[in-house]
Amino acid sequence: MLATMTDSKAPAVLHADRSGRKHDMAQQTGARSASSMHVRHIYFAVQSDADFHKVCIKAEGVLLALTRPKQPVDQFEKLAQSLSDCPSAANGGDLGWITPESCPPELYNELFCQSDWLSGKGIHPRLVRTQHGLHIVEVLARKKTRKQAFNALKTPMLETLANPTSLPSGFVQLSSKLQGEHLDSGKATEDDPTSNTMTPSDTPDANDGLLDRLRHFQSDYFPAHQQRFQDLVAKGQHPKTLFIGCSDSRVVPYLLTGAGPGELFIVRNVGALVPPYDGSHGLHGTMAAIEFAVLSLKVERIIVCGHSHCGAIRTAYHGAPPEARALQNWLELTKEALLPVQPCAEAFHRTEQRSVVLQMERLMDYPMVRREVEARKLTLHGWHYVIETGQVHVFDVSRGDFIPCTEATSSGTGPYTPYSDPPQL
Ligand SMILES: [Zn+2]
Repeated sequence: MLATMTDSKAPAVLHADRSGRKHDMAQQTGARSASSMHVRHIYFAVQSDADFHKVCIKAEGVLLALTRPKQPVDQFEKLAQSLSDCPSAANGGDLGWITPESCPPELYNELFCQSDWLSGKGIHPRLVRTQHGLHIVEVLARKKTRKQAFNALKTPMLETLANPTSLPSGFVQLSSKLQGEHLDSGKATEDDPTSNTMTPSDTPDANDGLLDRLRHFQSDYFPAHQQRFQDLVAKGQHPKTLFIGCSDSRVVPYLLTGAGPGELFIVRNVGALVPPYDGSHGLHGTMAAIEFAVLSLKVERIIVCGHSHCGAIRTAYHGAPPEARALQNWLELTKEALLPVQPCAEAFHRTEQRSVVLQMERLMDYPMVRREVEARKLTLHGWHYVIETGQVHVFDVSRGDFIPCTEATSSGTGPYTPYSDPPQL
């Protein structure tokens, strides 16, 4: 729903009144960036004990009402007055002209950093989710200028936030509300060791893509899955699957299996290899993970997932750099899968699959694995993922070969229990 409502292909709303004409001008694609924006919003606060989904449904309903085509009268003011949890409700949600310096960090990224907002593309009003709640935000007008770097803005922004009386309109109070715990009665002091307020020296750079992704996770993904994460903490994890995969960045277990939080217990290493149970390779995390998964988590299946173009298999043929002594030693675990042929694409492909079977055989040497398999409480699954086609070939023990998943009748060795992990929210 949220994705649909923010789809840039959605039709623009056309207005007939004065504010509507300003709105339509603001949506023209000529504006490359903005030094300030005339914004109004309807804020739906989400308290920590509130049902987020109920708030979502309410906000979406209001958004739908606002974006219904051919509205004879602008409903925004009226709805803001009756519904918004922001003090600006008294002004019909009008926040006045917002500059990057006066914009709360919660909305700064949405208003001044997202290219579709800056270029005027996309549908307005739109729903913006922050960790404090939901905002239906509408840009009525923009003043164009070049885009400013976050570092150039952070100091004045923080100064303004520390002095809410300098902010325009109801955003003053909302800003204080959003920042409440940080500002401590409106003032933040840099020498307060408990203050969470960012200082110029430790303010992260907006160009840090990973930091952006962390924030995106917290503000966008997490709220929709919050209950599930909290249940997993309260009730503990009970994954039914141990996934042993290669460290290769192109293997993404969650994508392959459609799994969500709490469903996969994952151990990854170079080559998706299983060390022998006799401990001859010393201390090893993979062994510990297998023991923990089988004995403590009591998983019902173990997947060993190899893949095409595996660097571990190639290195096993060609040799590791002399300095990589641990890697050389580790790749000994592939030795029995190697073929006495000239290295070539076909040999690599076959070796990748042979290695999966070899690791499954080693798994059966683990007493707890063998015991559970023989008791029909645990099944083994050998997979070979072909990156370039997206096809996973599964090992069919009765045929002694790998079968494309599109043709296979099961995903591993029997006996089977239905895959009954909770569906992803
Ligand atoms: Zn690999």
